[in-house]
Order: sequence, then structure tokens, then C-alpha cells
Amino acid sequence: LFAQPCRFFFAAQRIDQLPPPALPEIAFAGRSNVGKSSLINGLTGHKALARASSTPGRTKQLNFFELGGRLTLVDMPGYGYAEAAKAVKEDWQGLMFDFLRGRPTLQRVVLLLDSRVEIKKTDTDAMALLDRAAVIFQLVLTKADAVKPPKLAAKQAEVEALARRHPAAHPEVLTTSSETGAGMPELRAALAALAEP
Ligand code: GDP
Repeated sequence: LFAQPCRFFFAAQRIDQLPPPALPEIAFAGRSNVGKSSLINGLTGHKALARASSTPGRTKQLNFFELGGRLTLVDMPGYGYAEAAKAVKEDWQGLMFDFLRGRPTLQRVVLLLDSRVEIKKTDTDAMALLDRAAVIFQLVLTKADAVKPPKLAAKQAEVEALARRHPAAHPEVLTTSSETGAGMPELRAALAALAEP
């Protein structure tokens, strides 16, 4: 599936602007700078399909990509940008919750966590939001290349323990690197299983 062409087809700034629900959808979320754009580009084999915003925390839109006519990938705005105004943060929560709750085609959220960074309250807040919205989410560690193997294993165990405390969390935690491609085949396989046959 991930060898198929992937194309950007829609950007939504407001919840009443979403494209009509069609293919199964996988949304990607995480803190600003977690490596979300790099991961989406790496998964789909594009160099610049998803772009990191030059002003993090500013571009609050949902970007939709269609993959091989079988799956839609949704790039959610990064959260947790320290300098974002309170109103921007509340906007994010509102838009995300409305999207998560009301999207019949949404199969899963891939929630990214940086292997090098401690888990923050904004991350566990996002998990709680997903629990409340009853959307299954899979935790994926990014930038695995930047951490020594024993530290990465400890981080993975920590995140697996966290997953067990969230009813909507998928039990499997994957470790990935957009630099080396580690974990990408596993993540592609997990997502392809959710695509239209
Ligand atoms: P986004 O804001 O979540 O979309 O994050 P980006 O994909 O723009 O990445 C943020 C920063 O992390 C950039 O400087 C990337 O080069 C770096 N980065 C992203 N993925 C990796 C990775 O797998 N390994 C390493 N070492 N750095 C990464």
C-alpha cells in the first residue's frame, strides 16, 4: 500500500469544512517538533509531502492525504508549543475533540512521542482526550536513532506502561526513526491492516 502514490487533497481549518467521510482514516498527532512531518514523509516515501510549519503552533489545520485509493492520512496540527496563546491551545482542543468525536471514518490516531524527550502533560492530556472521544490510538516513539538502545528499551517499556493506563490505547508501542527507517515497515503494516481491502 505504501508503495502507492500519496497525494494531498484537502486542508481544513474549521470543523465545518471537513471533506466528506470516504476512505478509512488514520490521523497523526503529537507535540510540535516531535518528527511528525518527517514520519509521514518517510512512511509514504515522499520528501516533502507533509511540511513542518515554519512557525510551530501557528498553522492550525488538518491536512488530508489520499494513499493508493485505500486509505486517508490526516496530519493534525502539532500541540504543546510553549509560546502558543491560551486561546490557540483551547482552539486546538476544541477542533481536535470535534474531529475525533464526529468522524465516522477515523480508524486510529497515531500519537507520536519523541524518544529523547520526557512525556509532558500535554501528551497525557491528548491521551485523555482520545480516551474521552473513544478513538483507538497507537503510541509511536520517534527519533529512535538519537537514543542508545538500553535507553530506548526503557522508554518503550515506560510508554507501554502508560498505554495500559489508557482505555483507548493500543497495547503495541512501536519505535521508529525517519533517519534510518527503523520501525517503518512495522508501522506501515499496522496501518495497511486498517485500509480498505
Ligand atoms: P514536526 O514538527 O512534528 O512535523 O517535526 P519535523 O518532522 O519537522 O521534525 C522536527 C525536527 O526533528 C527536525 O529537525 C528533524 O530533522 C528532526 N527529526 C525528525 N525525525 C527524526 C528522526 O527520526 N531522527 C532524528 N535524529 N531527528 C529527526
